[in-house]
Amino acid sequence: MGVLYLLHTRPWLCITRKKAGFATRKLYSKGALLYRNRILCQALRMASSGMNVAAFQKDKAYVDGKWVSAKSGKTFEVTNPSNGKVLGSVPDMDRSDAQAAIETAYRTFQAWKSTLPKERSDILRRWFELCVKHKKELATLITLEMGKSFPEAEGEIAYSANFLEWYSEETRRTYGDVTPPPAHNKRVMVIKQPIGVAAMITPWNFPSAMLTRKIGAALAAGCTVVARPAEDTPLSALALCELAEQAGVPPGVVNVITSSRENASPIGKELCENPLIAKISFTGSCAVGKLLLSQCANTVKKTSMELGGNAPFIVFDSADVDKAIQGLMFAKFRVTGQTCICANRILVQEGVYDKFVQALAKVIDSQLKVGDGFEPGVTQGPLINKRAVEKVENLVNSSVGEGAKVVVGGSRKDGPGNFFNPTLLRDVTTEMSVAKEEIFGPVAACIKFKTEDEAIAIANSTSYGLASYFYTNDISQSYRVSEALEFGMVGVNEAAITSPETTFGGWKESGLGSEGGKYGINEYLAFKNICYGIQHKA
Ligand code: NAP
Repeated sequence: MGVLYLLHTRPWLCITRKKAGFATRKLYSKGALLYRNRILCQALRMASSGMNVAAFQKDKAYVDGKWVSAKSGKTFEVTNPSNGKVLGSVPDMDRSDAQAAIETAYRTFQAWKSTLPKERSDILRRWFELCVKHKKELATLITLEMGKSFPEAEGEIAYSANFLEWYSEETRRTYGDVTPPPAHNKRVMVIKQPIGVAAMITPWNFPSAMLTRKIGAALAAGCTVVARPAEDTPLSALALCELAEQAGVPPGVVNVITSSRENASPIGKELCENPLIAKISFTGSCAVGKLLLSQCANTVKKTSMELGGNAPFIVFDSADVDKAIQGLMFAKFRVTGQTCICANRILVQEGVYDKFVQALAKVIDSQLKVGDGFEPGVTQGPLINKRAVEKVENLVNSSVGEGAKVVVGGSRKDGPGNFFNPTLLRDVTTEMSVAKEEIFGPVAACIKFKTEDEAIAIANSTSYGLASYFYTNDISQSYRVSEALEFGMVGVNEAAITSPETTFGGWKESGLGSEGGKYGINEYLAFKNICYGIQHKA
């Protein structure tokens, strides 16, 4: 089944299927033959592992435990950014569909909120186990609809599932407080209760993990959910619903509505303004986050905003340059530079600047490979869509126009798909757009600095405050700089800084609230002070 699925998503493989895997030289060049046979081998490996992707690829949204169409009957297509091919279609829902899902979630909340933490824990645990069991199918959907390399997609599924595991554990630990009384005739306690229906809007770059990081916390707290994934990547969200159902999540507890970009705004407005929703959790750009915040004002909703970043990556003269480069390769080029915590401004101290840039150029050349995420060895999948390619291209061109020099790459990759070659720019200044805007692509922009104070001043001179990184072998400097950086996350000689065990959240315009860690569940809980007046014995 897995083979057939892959075959159907790649028309050229239909020919190889007819010929039982042996394409003819008459039809294909040697390079194309090798490539296609490699993909076929991959498909066969998936089939031999018992994988059935088709069972997880849905063409309906999921509301009240049912697979449903849009009331209008409209649909939109989901495409593969590696080749532009259509993968399938899903319902193009509108505001009225959102209202129906909200009412379902509100009705279901009345029962779900009273379930025991242990019951919710068991369900989340089963959901986690099912995600692990089906990680290859789920990862395949990510690579197909989002484009990241298959190993990265598998990594995302592990990360995504771990949030369900983490919250299956946290649900039994939502302790309140018994506080010392302020008077002899009073007793005071603080309890935490589920806040209500939680709405979620998620981006395309982590189509699975951005959802479980929110849904896991919401369900653990006792909330029900209405979620809307991005237009580009609805399939991963719907696949999670299939496993939620298998895990025993009751109908109406998790509702996923899908829509085209055109309907994102009216649905977002409904989620923000509907009084039956108690909480909005959004991950995406600062611009949309600010809009949603303003729309939530009338109903004074609790909000979590995980917004954009402009991460500084600082390399001090004392740093181990090789270690810093390996860290940068992860912080910059993971998911082809399309993560909110990607290194955006690479600040290198003057003593090691030239050495760093030369060594980085070699590593980019030798370690990065651009292509379809299923092709073995590929590290750089496509950008999500044509708009993203144009944005990255404009940033590179404007930097070059202002004096930056291209050391590696600098242009699109020829051929189909939304590919941009990994790019290294030197002589970038803080005034250039590439240093001020979130690049969201595979462009490493290197800026030279002289002193520690200058590096900190540059790093903090942004309205963003999500992630930051620095490399040093000076222990005093590591304390000084980590405390001075105005960011919600700091990596010190380390680039892999996120995990379910710790908090994820931004300062300044990068967001409100935090996800994961021991505080993440509080985003879905309301605190209640209960003060007892008691008869005090004279
Ligand atoms: P985006 O344009 O803000 O979109 C994010 C989500 O919001 C998508 O589902 C999008 O739907 C939806 N949306 C867009 N306009 C909307 C509106 N008016 N009302 C309601 N929903 C709306 O962000 P993006 O460019 O796709 O994603 C990249 C951004 O996300 C970057 O800035 C990145 O830093 C940020 N991000 C942050 C984190 C974090 O945890 N801090 C994690 C990942 C990404 P459509 O896609 O269908 O338009």
